[in-house]
Amino acid sequence: MNVILLGPPGAGKGTQAKKLSAEFGTPQISTGDILRDAARRGTELGKLAAPLMQSGQLVPDDLVVKIVEECLRQPDASRGFVLDGFPRTIPQAEALDAALAKAGRKIDAVVSLDVPESTLIQRISGRRSCAKDGSVYHLNENPPRQAGICDKCSSPLIQREDDQEDKVRERLAVYARQTAPLKDFYAKRGLLRSIEGVGSPEGVYLDVKKALGKP
Ligand code: AMP
Repeated sequence: MNVILLGPPGAGKGTQAKKLSAEFGTPQISTGDILRDAARRGTELGKLAAPLMQSGQLVPDDLVVKIVEECLRQPDASRGFVLDGFPRTIPQAEALDAALAKAGRKIDAVVSLDVPESTLIQRISGRRSCAKDGSVYHLNENPPRQAGICDKCSSPLIQREDDQEDKVRERLAVYARQTAPLKDFYAKRGLLRSIEGVGSPEGVYLDVKKALGKP
């Protein structure tokens, strides 16, 4: 199962990708998580990506394409993968097709999570993540046991800089301009399955599985 989860920031791509990954044993490939980790560790890639991420802009295509190609070559991705946050532009989608074709593989399905903008903003503004392990919480929907502290590693929870309201509006505009055209790109290939990404994560997950033809 080679799957892409498509949707604006706050649509629940990460949450659904984790669920698919846990149930089907296919790795979640999240370019956002990989870039944030690189920024935390202060690698060359991280130094380049950090200012762009903080301002809500996209990191250049060639950099993210290289990251994903590397992930796809890993043995754990040989039986399938769930892409979360990639591709985000048409050139990224074309590069992905080319990389997969070289290995005799292809995308099986693209699940688009559709969520109204007011819900996206409400979700993102309440999102808090662990400064150390990246675990994600929500102040109301999925609060940590102890306020401000990660359940798993007891590190402080922070608000991602790009989750602040002005940055969120920029990210939504970038999504509309650069990423939303991918829906058409994949619809033309007969791969797009659009579902409503509202309600509980468990309810949305049932719809994601249905869209993938998984009982
Ligand atoms: P995310 O966690 O998916 O919301 O990504 C956070 C930020 O990482 C984005 O706003 C971009 O700056 C960067 N990023 C993640 N994935 C990509 C991608 N496929 N192409 C370009 N930039 C990306």
